[in-house]
Amino acid sequence: MLTLVHHPDYLLHRPSGHHPESPERLKWIEEGLKEAGLWERALHLGPRPASEEELLLVHTPEHISYVASAWREGRRWLDLDTYICSHSYDVAKLAVGGVFRAVDEVCSGDERIAFCLIRPPGHHAEPDRSMGFCLFNNVALGARYAQRTHGVGRVLIVDWDLHHGNGTQVTFWDDPSVFYFSVHLYPYYPGTGRADERGGGPGEGYTLNVPLPWGSDDDAYERTLRERLLPEVERFRPELVMISAGFDAHRADPLSGMEVTEEGFLKMAEMVSEVAKEYAGGRIVSVLEGGYHRSALPRSAVAHLKGLLS
Ligand SMILES: [Zn+2]
Repeated sequence: MLTLVHHPDYLLHRPSGHHPESPERLKWIEEGLKEAGLWERALHLGPRPASEEELLLVHTPEHISYVASAWREGRRWLDLDTYICSHSYDVAKLAVGGVFRAVDEVCSGDERIAFCLIRPPGHHAEPDRSMGFCLFNNVALGARYAQRTHGVGRVLIVDWDLHHGNGTQVTFWDDPSVFYFSVHLYPYYPGTGRADERGGGPGEGYTLNVPLPWGSDDDAYERTLRERLLPEVERFRPELVMISAGFDAHRADPLSGMEVTEEGFLKMAEMVSEVAKEYAGGRIVSVLEGGYHRSALPRSAVAHLKGLLS
């Protein structure tokens, strides 16, 4: 069965004007899952707030106190496109804690597949800075938490958000216990994610970036996973699979330059599900990242979950 992590407080992180990363995104997905009959069939889990000590699993104390104090000091922007409001610090801790609850369920509960309907997103957040709509790195913190709390050794993170997850890459750059795989549009924001960025020190070879050109479609993404990810997975043998599930590579997405459709997201999820079944006891924690289109986002999320449950 499927576990969904969600909470109304995730809507409290709000921009003061128009911004693509809006609270409505979660409502759209909820509606879509209800229409598809997935909502009723799922187990529903609420989050808990991550503690500041837990944020230290990835972030520096300076970064945590910067985010905590920024709104009190009257700031509304952490960088050019990353807004904060008076609730943002609490909501960001609740987003991280939502992933922790999903990891708890998947690693020691009855369920094996969890999808975290959380925001703000996380994969651009580096240990010492917020950027790209992201305050804390939800998926990176989830991987560290799984290792520390549940004794998980090797974690695979698959990131097919339109953008490269620079924050996740930096976090695990020299760490061979977390394999970071990203397929993304390049050159594009945030500027990282070249094929020759492969990790460093003991982590060399445990980061794999596949930059794709504008207009890449379902076939290109599926081929990338089959030909580039699967051979690495055979070698790495993950014990837990996490997904940075961004849906902004959809052809209809306002930020996209790609031609991915729901069918592509379904096929990618099926492939990752196979990987998880073969090596990780079927354990998958999928975490929402980007995806900004009113109807393409919920349709993609439905296809994603159908693929994971296949
Ligand atoms: Zn994105």
